[in-house]
Amino acid sequence: MSETYDIVIVGAGTAGLSAAIYAARSGKSVMVFEQMSYGGQIVNTPEVANYPGIASISGFDFAQGLYDQATGLGAKVGFESVLSAHKKEDGFIVKTDGGEYEAGALILATGAKNRPLGMEHEEEWVGAGVSYCATCDGAFFKDREVAVAGGGNTALEDAIFLSEYCSRVYLIHRRNELRGEKHLQDVLRGRENVEFVLNVAMKELRGRDGLEEVVVTDKETGEDRVIPVAGLFVAIGQMPENGRFANLVNLDDKGYIVAGEDCRTAAGGVFAAGDCRTKEVRQLTTAAADGAVAALAACAYLRE
Ligand code: NAP
Repeated sequence: MSETYDIVIVGAGTAGLSAAIYAARSGKSVMVFEQMSYGGQIVNTPEVANYPGIASISGFDFAQGLYDQATGLGAKVGFESVLSAHKKEDGFIVKTDGGEYEAGALILATGAKNRPLGMEHEEEWVGAGVSYCATCDGAFFKDREVAVAGGGNTALEDAIFLSEYCSRVYLIHRRNELRGEKHLQDVLRGRENVEFVLNVAMKELRGRDGLEEVVVTDKETGEDRVIPVAGLFVAIGQMPENGRFANLVNLDDKGYIVAGEDCRTAAGGVFAAGDCRTKEVRQLTTAAADGAVAALAACAYLRE
């Protein structure tokens, strides 16, 4: 017999664990499925300094706090990959790589994964110089030259972090303007070992036993430039991964689950929370807020 829960949550990031806290405190039986480790994207952030009420905390500690709080309230966390979910007469069947479960309501909090540059053979360089997580892999490049690709807050924060112990950091961006916050740009401009390489297209990754050079093309002059680096940190945003739920909910053209601020999807009983849904602002605070909204909406749905 399959296990049955009031609410099954897919994803144990900030949105999913926040939803678990609210649902468990409302007296519901809750199972959170997570295919990797709990915490989601925030575990890779060295310092969270913009969560209201907490002046400074590491991303790892923040995630640990969420996990402890959710499980302390009785929510279960199962490290299984959800393969599909289907509606049945009075709820949902959720299939994972570990079994089959029944749920009265579903909260999709699948977050988003790192966007690749889309360069030929890019995946073959992962572990050989190309990384999508400066906090995880930056220490391997102490006293070496590295590059960061991207112009958003993540890229700027990564470049600041790496400039503290790498000999040189090139910030490579496809436009002349950076999208990230001005104060982060100012910090970077004040660092002598940081160089901005703007308005360029990534052309080629080169090296024998590992990355040695990144070739970029200046968009204005068309000239190529060879940048000697041992590491390239790609920080060009995230992409959602919601294809397996397309039978249940509507996805927009980028693959985000279509849902409003009430976290309700087109399917009754299915709610979307956090970075996986259509929204303007993807922050820790908005993910946590979505978790609360989705959980309370799911509780209301179960009462109806
Ligand atoms: P982002 O803000 O979406 O920025 C992505 C960057 O990558 C943009 O500069 C974009 O260029 C570039 N890009 C996108 N696709 C590309 C491609 N195919 N090739 C080359 N460049 C590409 O992503 P993010 O920096 O990961 O941040 C995500 C969200 O988290 C944002 O809302 C951000 O503010 C937030 N965040 C906040 C903090 C903080 O507050 N401390 C820290 C990290 C992230 P264009 O600019 O040309 O579009």
